[in-house]
Amino acid sequence: MIAIARPTANQVAEELTGRSYVSFSSLRTFRECPLRYYFRYIAGLPEETVAAGLVFGSAIHRALETHFRELLSGNRPPSLDALLAEYHGGWSDRGEQQVLFGKGEDQNSLAMVARRILVAFQASELACPAGTILGVEEELRENVIPGLPDVLARLDLVVETDRAVVVTDFKTARARWSQEQAEDAGEQLLLYSELAKQLVPGKPVKLEFAVVTKTKVPAIERHEIELVPQRVARMKRVVRRVWRAIEAGHFYPAPSPLSCPTCPFRKPCRKWTG
Ligand code: SF4
Repeated sequence: MIAIARPTANQVAEELTGRSYVSFSSLRTFRECPLRYYFRYIAGLPEETVAAGLVFGSAIHRALETHFRELLSGNRPPSLDALLAEYHGGWSDRGEQQVLFGKGEDQNSLAMVARRILVAFQASELACPAGTILGVEEELRENVIPGLPDVLARLDLVVETDRAVVVTDFKTARARWSQEQAEDAGEQLLLYSELAKQLVPGKPVKLEFAVVTKTKVPAIERHEIELVPQRVARMKRVVRRVWRAIEAGHFYPAPSPLSCPTCPFRKPCRKWTG
């Protein structure tokens, strides 16, 4: 009798999505709208539009990344002009995608917001981490849930202090986050903690969001997410169920006034017949 080898979870993922792993952002896309996930990760449809908020957030992220990379290399913090150049680079590298701006918003008005944010960031304690920077945009990959594909994570900032390995994820928001909002978003960091705990074996991991607001006077606030074993176990069960739904092909539209106006798949969504 010839034994037929069953494909591994990574092979199944590659067959389905072209990637032999899952990321938190892909799972989040599925939870927000399964059909959007299908268009992006399974059908691989081109995305002709992009929300201005996404371009803005990743351009700010790029500027912060540059700041911390310089510190990691033992250099002085970059100037405001250098950070702004990175921010503008984030806009010019987006290719041919049409940017969908919000009401009363354009690239110039957002550039002024970016300047205010970066000035506030440079003056904040976030800009000078208390400890040794271990990684910036640190890419980690590991199998954290048996039977599921590997998880790939990019940790924005990892700092080792006397007491812990601190994992910081940057977020750009329209307004300040409450601690409750941070807790609601905390599954991402709980998943990352499973990868980060290998970085310095035996040292506890501390998780936090650094939330930068686009308000007139920008705020830069940190929200710690408590690493509770029950929450980690719950997060893993959620990830398992989400992946099983993807494997089973449970794709359907989940229209929402928050997601649909800036969704790059509005046209194919309207044509989708179920
Ligand atoms: S338009 Fe709305 S329902 Fe359709 S795929 Fe996009 S987010 Fe989902």
